Amino acid sequence: MSRSVLVTGGNRGIGLAIARAFADAGDKVAITYRSGEPPAGFLAVKCDITDAEQVERAYKEIEDTHGPVEVLVANAGVTKDQLLMRMSEEDFTSVLDTNLTGTFRVVKRANRGMLRAKKGRVVLISSVVGLLGSAGQANYAASKAALVGFARSLARELGSRNITFNVVAPGFVDTDMTKVLTDEQRANIVGQVPLGRYAQPEEVAATVRFLASDDASYITGAVIPVDGGLGMGH
Ligand code: NDP
Repeated sequence: MSRSVLVTGGNRGIGLAIARAFADAGDKVAITYRSGEPPAGFLAVKCDITDAEQVERAYKEIEDTHGPVEVLVANAGVTKDQLLMRMSEEDFTSVLDTNLTGTFRVVKRANRGMLRAKKGRVVLISSVVGLLGSAGQANYAASKAALVGFARSLARELGSRNITFNVVAPGFVDTDMTKVLTDEQRANIVGQVPLGRYAQPEEVAATVRFLASDDASYITGAVIPVDGGLGMGH
């Protein structure tokens, strides 16, 4: 059955791989983008998730075209790395506003239709560093750790309504976000990953699609690592 799927930040990187995985399976996929030319093959809606009005407008457009969102993948996220002593309040709050409050905005709006439908699947993209910590990423790690408490609270609040909330925690994935790292940083990271390499975005997408599938009907409140073993034990 073709479902209405929304992937925030589905115009590139991990989000685009996730959008493709759902589209390949026959779902109706909407993606958000902020600027430039979005990739073809999806319903692309312009939306900055830090702006509640843009989120509302995006949902209206998606509902008019694909119907209420049945699967939401909250993937959009940013980094603004800096050591604490040099991290400005804006560096901190802007990352939280995108990664955490932005996720709240899109999840809350999706929930309206899911409650009415008495079913829904929500997958949040966190990060291995949310639970491991990462020097220079206190803002990002805090925002990604917060997604776990957010998802688990909603799993309890809305489980009786047949809506599942799960978290995927990728390790290091080959995208624009990690292209900024130096060769030395990359080699250092890979040295700590049991599988000895970065992930491809498609490897994260496969787990997301599983969590939204019938095969995952009894999974909620879970945090699934896709990190090559980097975070083992947390
Ligand atoms: P990219 O930097 O390649 O892409 C980020 C995406 O998020 C883009 O589509 C971007 O849209 C979107 N986005 C950022 N801010 C906003 C906003 N305010 N409103 C709407 N969309 C926004 O990152 P990745 O693909 O690597 O990361 C995707 C997710 O996976 C993120 O949440 C990231 O934290 C997480 N992650 C990534 C890892 C990695 O190693 N790459 C590891 C662990 C987690 P636009 O194109 O308009 O800028």
